[in-house]
Amino acid sequence: MSAPATNVIAGVDIGGTATQVVLCTPQLEIIGRATTPTPRGGDAMIDAAVGMIAGLVAEHDTELLGVGVGAAGVVDSVAGEVLVASDTFVDWAGYRVAAELRRRVGVPAFLENDVNAFLTGETAAGAITGATDALAIMIGTGVGGALWVDGRLFSGPHGAAGEIGHMPGFGDAVCSCGRHGHLESVAAGRQIALRYREAGGDELRSAEIARRAEAGEPRAAAVFRTAGRAVGQAISAVSALVDVTTVVVGGGVSNAWGLLAPAIDGYLSDEPPVSGLPIRIERSTLGKDAVAVGAASRVRTELGL
Ligand SMILES: [Zn+2]
Repeated sequence: MSAPATNVIAGVDIGGTATQVVLCTPQLEIIGRATTPTPRGGDAMIDAAVGMIAGLVAEHDTELLGVGVGAAGVVDSVAGEVLVASDTFVDWAGYRVAAELRRRVGVPAFLENDVNAFLTGETAAGAITGATDALAIMIGTGVGGALWVDGRLFSGPHGAAGEIGHMPGFGDAVCSCGRHGHLESVAAGRQIALRYREAGGDELRSAEIARRAEAGEPRAAAVFRTAGRAVGQAISAVSALVDVTTVVVGGGVSNAWGLLAPAIDGYLSDEPPVSGLPIRIERSTLGKDAVAVGAASRVRTELGL
């Protein structure tokens, strides 16, 4: 007689360039993962996820209990439906992700916004495990945010709570949305590259500008200092409103942590929180797995595992 198959949860991270699936135990230990470039079109995106889930489940001889998805854009996390998607995603706005996955895979499925999933993952099994009041900031192509209040995700009535990327008050540079002075206009990867060029620098990606800053180039260092101080300012504003004690920062630009962290700390020592208590600021420890693990964590909570 063979041993009973291990119970697992699949977490899916559907991003603009790649789709990742992790297979986790109910304790959120990762036992397998797969990645593929995100195809064009809602049906193709779901096909890709379903294919990877089936492959991993077969490979590891496991019993799948549920599927969680973290996806960019505005989502209805109760209905499991995408409400608003960026131009990168074709036939995705209006897509009933949870229902389609439930039909295709035959297990309960749930959809969450990617930054909300990132925060859920980091509080469940990452850098801020057990935190009760936290802000998550994801700095990549854009800037996303999410709030964890009193031990749970706080999304607000429109799913927009904690979305600090397009909050004004950060200078007057043009933002990716076309308006001026938003946090994203100085802190997001593409915007860091634009600000560097405006300052007379070369046309480079933000990761390369970070390397120049680390090597001591003042112009590159100044752009990252502005980005980090802006993130500090956003943390200060959020903590004044909802008294978060903890912040977790992820996304590709956070790889330049050695540049960002001192600038964030610098702002917060100039403008300490009204509570008078320091705010704990951590870099993501789940890294590229954070959204998928967070989506799996949502399944664990929903199914009471
Ligand atoms: Zn904006």
